[in-house]
Amino acid sequence: MIYLDYQATTPLAPEAREAMLPWLGGPGEAGLGNPHSPHRLGRSAKAAVEHARDQVAALLPDGGRVVFTGSACEAINLAMRGVPGEGPVAHSAIEHPAVRDTARALGACYELPVNAEGLTDPAMPLAPGTRLVAVMQVNNEIGTIQPSARWHAAARGAGALFLSDAVQAFGKLPVAEADLIAVSAHKLYGPKGIGALWVRDGVQLAPQITGGLQEGIRSGTLSPALCAGFGAAAQLARERMAADAAHVETLWLRARELFAGWQLNGSASERWQGNLNLRRDGLDVARLMSDCPQVMFSAGSACASGSGAPSHVLRAIGLSDRQAKNSIRLGFGRYTTVDEIEEAAAMLNAAADAQ
Ligand code: PLP
Repeated sequence: MIYLDYQATTPLAPEAREAMLPWLGGPGEAGLGNPHSPHRLGRSAKAAVEHARDQVAALLPDGGRVVFTGSACEAINLAMRGVPGEGPVAHSAIEHPAVRDTARALGACYELPVNAEGLTDPAMPLAPGTRLVAVMQVNNEIGTIQPSARWHAAARGAGALFLSDAVQAFGKLPVAEADLIAVSAHKLYGPKGIGALWVRDGVQLAPQITGGLQEGIRSGTLSPALCAGFGAAAQLARERMAADAAHVETLWLRARELFAGWQLNGSASERWQGNLNLRRDGLDVARLMSDCPQVMFSAGSACASGSGAPSHVLRAIGLSDRQAKNSIRLGFGRYTTVDEIEEAAAMLNAAADAQ
């Protein structure tokens, strides 16, 4: 099996797995406590959660707090639904459904277009009264990197808050400036089922999940095991950020040579290089997948690929439905080898040539 779907999820780092094990909490084990219980086991679980919070916070700006959530989707919902005010929400045309669908559910919203490279322009005017601007840092389908600091300034200038969906950037690039930042553990070699929302000091959000309010603005018992895995993954990502990026660049350069006959979707320069979104005229992607079952890759994006609908991101950069359906996404990272890229390219190119 060759795993090339790192935007959908990344493998769990062995270090993160190790950090989780003591907190799974079997009978009689020291890691079984509820971190919200006042007794000794509860307090030690709480200490593990707070240590993990510090490890995650070390990758985020100063002047804010980390609220653990069950996923980045939940973090985004908390941010978008929790921001006070009535004005519209502005979001880029290539946001993840977590942002787009939530903006639509909230009612008044409008899209900020992207150019053919998949890049937004922070010089474009915002509608009067806009209360929240959401522009992701790195796109999950085509990997393009948006000018987040300029968006933050533009939002501030218009009296709006700025939400950065940094899920695909967190642990790989320095995280952008924003008022609210959503992240997810399973995209940086941590466990699935835990995310976080970073909230700038002074930003007030209304809770969306009520109950114990264990996280102040979010209810639910935290999992010390998931927190510990997230924390360890964040610390490792911080230590390895430069080495991981250099490795990804090596993979990218080799992959670009091997797939020279394919068209690249999205900017080549303003891009996280662990994302290769490619198209070939006339390509039948479903057939390619069934002809290359050893290669785990995606058609467009993991979210879009199940639906059969052409990707809204590929449509937004000006591709026709047909071109969008002729596209595949290869995602690679820390644990991918050059040999795997070469083997996958040989299989995919041979199968595509035979169509
Ligand atoms: N935002 C982006 C850009 C993503 O890629 C994803 C996951 O695919 C999410 C949000 C949602 O993350 P989670 O799986 O933690 O809900």
